[in-house]
Amino acid sequence: MKKDFINEEEIFSFLEKGKNPDPIEIREIIAKSKGKNRLDPHETAKLLHVNDPELLDEMFKAASQIKQDVYGNRIVFFAPLYVGNKCINNCIYCGFRRDNKKIIRKTLTKEELQNEVKAMVRKGHKRTILVFGEHPVYDADYISDVLQTVYATKEGRGEIRRANINAAPMDVEGYKKLHDVGIGTYQIFQETYHHDTYRKLHPKGDLKGDYQWRLYGLDRAIEAGIDDVGIGALFGVYDWKFEVMGLLYHTIHLENTFGGIGPHTISFPRLEPALNTPFTIGSKYLVSDEAFKKIITIIRLSVPYTGMILTARERPEIRDELIPIGISQIDAGSRIGIGGYEEAEKGLIPEKEQFQLGDIRSLDEVIRKVCEFGYVTSFCTAGYRAGRTGDHFMSLARPGHVHRYCMPNAMLTFKEYLLDYASEETRMAGEKVIQDELNRFNKNYPDRGMLLEQKLKQIEEGNRDVYI
Ligand code: SAM
Ligand code: SF4
Repeated sequence: MKKDFINEEEIFSFLEKGKNPDPIEIREIIAKSKGKNRLDPHETAKLLHVNDPELLDEMFKAASQIKQDVYGNRIVFFAPLYVGNKCINNCIYCGFRRDNKKIIRKTLTKEELQNEVKAMVRKGHKRTILVFGEHPVYDADYISDVLQTVYATKEGRGEIRRANINAAPMDVEGYKKLHDVGIGTYQIFQETYHHDTYRKLHPKGDLKGDYQWRLYGLDRAIEAGIDDVGIGALFGVYDWKFEVMGLLYHTIHLENTFGGIGPHTISFPRLEPALNTPFTIGSKYLVSDEAFKKIITIIRLSVPYTGMILTARERPEIRDELIPIGISQIDAGSRIGIGGYEEAEKGLIPEKEQFQLGDIRSLDEVIRKVCEFGYVTSFCTAGYRAGRTGDHFMSLARPGHVHRYCMPNAMLTFKEYLLDYASEETRMAGEKVIQDELNRFNKNYPDRGMLLEQKLKQIEEGNRDVYI
């Protein structure tokens, strides 16, 4: 087998040499991150070994500062939409694996899909990630049909404006079909970057058993023209320090291969219990809350520009604590059973779910909570539609221009949400956040403040999908 870019020997050697790091060096590394520079692997390896509470505290504070500098008081909301859970693979950690006979297999019909989209839109969602098991029926043609149906479905004054995909890796031809129908981000999690562990978790002969097909899956997506790709590792199946290094190596590989464009987002799902799936509670690598906080902090410091996604797998108190440390996107009001949004009123449906969700608060409740942090909720998709993706997004993000474009657009979409979907309590909390942010924006960008106020007024007058 040819060598790939996950050089395990090198990773283990950096991890070994990084032990007992010198505080002076750690502070130099933190300063490099604060200057918005991506770290090199030997630097990240040192951060992974910091245990001193004072230094850790400095790292948490630096991560929050970077998040603030790059993304501002803004957090993007989305919700997953599970389209089908048929699967020909047998990943031992997943409730959807083919040998799990306790799971009900289901693929949404076109009508059910439309109903799911409408149920999401009625709650106020504008962005989704479509999730599929790996099965011959979920091929590129099928997924592109699903994408078109999702975009074409309208409900009241709303619709889904950006649909991302989390599905098996494809060939370049397949990705091109998705590109042609307006896919957002293509997301593939490597699960574990450790070759031997990967082999143990994914039986030989399964399509998913091919480590390198998966590892280079996003290279093929970019070759096919998909600008935004998302990487991730499933934390809890192998040593978390190694996986953070793996994510960094993957980022560097994409940057080096595609002219500086790294992944658009990084995800770090923690293994959650799943129906009839004992591995999920028996793994010896399960990640504690304390280690999880370090993981998020170190990823933020290592790749200051990359979006970071924290899902509703996590419990509310963990999410509330970790969001300010570096998260740019969260899901809320999520349902991960097939048909889950329509059935939501009837309670959860474990036989159709991939794993158990930790945060089952409604979208409205989570939005109210992030208002308490002073954050603007963003459902914004203007950047993509105005072509601000891939390298263009990065060139904007670097000098901090995200604030000039993304913050006003976030406010506009938040205003729409507050008028159309929010409870009275959330509306009041949200209007205050918008007003505070508007005051700040007027001060920082007096040339743009008037334009923003005009656009906000247009929304009050009944216009929708208004952006700058
Ligand atoms: N079937 C496709 C694949 O495997 O790439 C995409 C969908 S799969 C349902 C999405 C992700 O769910 C996987 O990549 C994995 O990281 C995550 N996952 C699987 N089992 C999980 C569990 N028990 N807890 C948390 N996340 C899990
Ligand atoms: Fe199938 Fe994906 Fe679950 Fe593996 S992780 S069993 S491929 S749905």
